[in-house]
Amino acid sequence: MTIYLEKFSPQPIIHMNRRAFLSKALMLAAGSATVPGMHLFAGNGKEKLPADEYNQLNPLRRNTGTFTGRGGTIGWLADNHGIIVIDSQFPPSARTFFTELQQHNSQSLLALINTHHHADHTAGNLYFSNIAEQIVAHENVPELQRTIAEEQNSVDEQVYPDTTFDTEWRLDTGDEIIHANYYGHAHTAGDIIIRFEKANVVHMGDLVFNRWYPFIDTDGGADISNWIEVLQSVADDADRDTFFIFGHGSSEFGITGSTNDLIVMRDYLSALLDFVDQRISDGNSLEEIASVGGLNGFPDHISPGARLSFQANVAAAWDELHQ
Ligand SMILES: [Zn+2]
Repeated sequence: MTIYLEKFSPQPIIHMNRRAFLSKALMLAAGSATVPGMHLFAGNGKEKLPADEYNQLNPLRRNTGTFTGRGGTIGWLADNHGIIVIDSQFPPSARTFFTELQQHNSQSLLALINTHHHADHTAGNLYFSNIAEQIVAHENVPELQRTIAEEQNSVDEQVYPDTTFDTEWRLDTGDEIIHANYYGHAHTAGDIIIRFEKANVVHMGDLVFNRWYPFIDTDGGADISNWIEVLQSVADDADRDTFFIFGHGSSEFGITGSTNDLIVMRDYLSALLDFVDQRISDGNSLEEIASVGGLNGFPDHISPGARLSFQANVAAAWDELHQ
């Protein structure tokens, strides 16, 4: 009964601000509204989830877990001190996820944290706008999110982070300590890594595409060289027991893993830059370099779509090397 009362406490309403108020009306229409430009990686986010994609709460350890519905992997912490959610996918899968989670835990949503601005990680903010006490992200995220939304005519569907930071953010929930850290430009200009300290679980956002050719968002401020450094740094800080959650992954290798998966990602990006750099030195054109099918040593990498292909990766490396 205590939990029931907490569930309906007025706390989230106290936190409703202008953003939340405006988006409340949008939420009412969210089930039927057209949401253009929200189909970066998987579907358009509007369709009803197939039955076998329900009930995808995958507990990890110490009250943490993942959810894979549509788009970037959601990470969560749910204990008797509150709930933390990392990334929000799209409104329909966000609803599916949180409805399921609330069947197990009806504490307040202390924070929704966006790993970066891409729609498959932030579009579901709309669903959480009246639920989350705060939406946390790196300080570059709101502007990046707004820029894309203007390009895709989806400004009205955006709910922006209201708690932003430069290098470091921390929340002590009572039974867990959550750290969010910024390491500079990598997949975008606003990627953060979130760590559940006691559980020793780390959400990498899209800094790891586990054996997918990654999306390297040049327009969004991507920096492959620094991305390599970031992966090295996080791998150095991890121990053998650290459990990682990835934004995306192949069905074979999955959306969770170990330091070894970070190293594979680091090595792929490093090999990509070296390869393109060498070919440029040899006088090859972008078309000639991109005509190569892939890199030796990475037989497991697959392409789930044109934007996440070896050819797109070569183009991004070409751009970076010509800056
Ligand atoms: Zn992304």
